[in-house]
Amino acid sequence: MHIIERKVSSISSYKKMSFYILIFLIICCCCFRYIELQKHRQPLLWSDDDRHFNETLTAIMRPRVVGSVGHKEVRHFIANELKELGFHVETDEFSQIVPVLGNLTFVNLLGIINPEASDFLALACHYDSKYFPDIPNFIGATDSAVPCATLLNTAKTLNSYLLTDFKNRQDLGLMLIFFDGEEAFLSWSKADSIYGSKHLARKLSISPDDFTKRHIDRIEVLILLDLLGTASQKFYSFYQNTDTLLEELSNIERNLMKSRQLEGHNYMFFSRRIQNMIEDDHLPFLDEDVPILHLIPVPFPKYWHTAKDDADSLHWPTIRNFNKIFRIFIYEYMKNHKENVNFRLM
Ligand SMILES: [Zn+2]
Repeated sequence: MHIIERKVSSISSYKKMSFYILIFLIICCCCFRYIELQKHRQPLLWSDDDRHFNETLTAIMRPRVVGSVGHKEVRHFIANELKELGFHVETDEFSQIVPVLGNLTFVNLLGIINPEASDFLALACHYDSKYFPDIPNFIGATDSAVPCATLLNTAKTLNSYLLTDFKNRQDLGLMLIFFDGEEAFLSWSKADSIYGSKHLARKLSISPDDFTKRHIDRIEVLILLDLLGTASQKFYSFYQNTDTLLEELSNIERNLMKSRQLEGHNYMFFSRRIQNMIEDDHLPFLDEDVPILHLIPVPFPKYWHTAKDDADSLHWPTIRNFNKIFRIFIYEYMKNHKENVNFRLM
């Protein structure tokens, strides 16, 4: 009886010991994981401003077909935002006869910091929404209200840098371009599409004189955002000369993911090249040899060019992640910029 009791008690102390060892190991694992996390976590220099993003998106996300009241008000809103953020604002206005709607006035909007710089980082999107006779309330949330709000939010969250250290740099300026008339009025063709970008590329391609660089040649790279904001969006590289830029976006995303500074676990940037058959506002610039980074998801969002391309189709964690990654990418591009960056030669 006594022997049995001793046995039972030794089994129970063995169990206790195992339990304490297990707890100890779990604590060790947690500490190790925490130290690993801290190693990868870099303090973020620039904070999110979700409130600004949401207010900006709300102001833009409304029907804004060229020539409509919504179009004019959205244009004024973007121009005012740019001015408030300290950008020099220029417009490129022209009239043209288009299918279905006849003679329309188009206005491209440009916001510039350091207009005298030798080269520019150009970030672009289109602010018009598509005309659908059977969907009068089409608001184009991804196409392209979110890209417009992202550009303005990037300018807002980096504003203290743009107006101090970046201001008056000679080697680099920042140009935000809000193209008008990207959408076709009847059906997409060379003639019936990208009205604004064709006009602006033509205008910037005029040689001031035989000795001065054309304005379009001062654009170091044009980064075009389109169809952003739905869950599981995936971006690839379309052009060899800007492969490295997509790689940088992917690296930033990986580092933020490792340090748990992104929401969810979905990666969106893939430094892999795929065939590009996508026609968009970049084409007139590509024709003039401007290096292009085209950030448009492949495949396109499910509700592209349907009545459902509205706020309900948006995935807010994806948008917040994109804004965070894109902001860091733009800041690092500007901060690390050296003279004679030339993607044209690569
Ligand atoms: Zn569209």
